[in-house]
Amino acid sequence: MGGRAKYRARCDTMIARLAGFKIAWHSCCALIAGEGGPRHTLAHLTLGKFELIAVSDGIYHLDGGAFFGVVPKVLWERKVKADEHNRVPAGLNSVIVNTGDHTVLIETGIGNKLPERMANIYGMPAQLLDNLAAAKIAPEDIDIVINSHLHFDHCGWNTIRRGGKIVATFPKARYYVQQGEWRHAHSQERDAISYLSENYDPLVESGQMTLLRGDQEIVPGISVEVFSGHTRDMQAIIVRSGGHTACYISDLIPSSLHLDLNWVMAFDLYPLETIESRKRYYARALPEKWLTMFTHDPSLPWGHVERAEMGKLEVKAS
Ligand SMILES: [Zn+2]
Repeated sequence: MGGRAKYRARCDTMIARLAGFKIAWHSCCALIAGEGGPRHTLAHLTLGKFELIAVSDGIYHLDGGAFFGVVPKVLWERKVKADEHNRVPAGLNSVIVNTGDHTVLIETGIGNKLPERMANIYGMPAQLLDNLAAAKIAPEDIDIVINSHLHFDHCGWNTIRRGGKIVATFPKARYYVQQGEWRHAHSQERDAISYLSENYDPLVESGQMTLLRGDQEIVPGISVEVFSGHTRDMQAIIVRSGGHTACYISDLIPSSLHLDLNWVMAFDLYPLETIESRKRYYARALPEKWLTMFTHDPSLPWGHVERAEMGKLEVKAS
């Protein structure tokens, strides 16, 4: 903790206060720092008694058509430019929640074990451990890892290859995911290509991964809740402290460009359920002023979603 405070003191920090959240932005710690090199901790905030730190595994590339689903390119291209292969940059945002009693890691990015054919398509920035180290967090410090679901870009750093074996990257951690998601990962359904068993099966076999059955509190102040649509059993991670709430809503609302109910990714298995789940989420998150954490936003790890003029949803960078 002392080390982290020292790291922070070196930064040129701007502090903003909004609706009870104390939020610090580090001008020396940008999420998008061009190609290569660790991107460091990009932001942290205080939520009641908890500290939240956004850490990134880097930027990867997604096909723009897949990322924005049925939305015509003429519309999404106004917001983000595609490269010559029609790919758009997407973030791999994880969040550390320091509760005082626990150091919880939400989501673990792509990792460093991606097969070459997939690394060629998506990229494999593999920066999470460097960025955790920059925040003075060692793998041994993490005692809880929560995966929203098991697609390769959400649980890659769950495990690493060491001495020809696949082992837990976070040796002291208990890992959590929904049992239904793990079962689905073993079915040969439409998104089978997105599941790499070495990211989770060794942990299930060793007993280090707990398979949850529905909504549950993991530790005081941190609970999971299933929001179906992207997959049937994808879970959001809800963090509550001091009367404030933050939610890692994962691929249900993957970036600040996906706020509109109908801007649904082509990856989603149940797009109509995505729309219903978003309605359910906004019905609580907007009036209660939840902080929404974005899993794939390349530049904004979190913000408050608000309803602006004409009912349009907008995110206020917090
Ligand atoms: Zn996914």
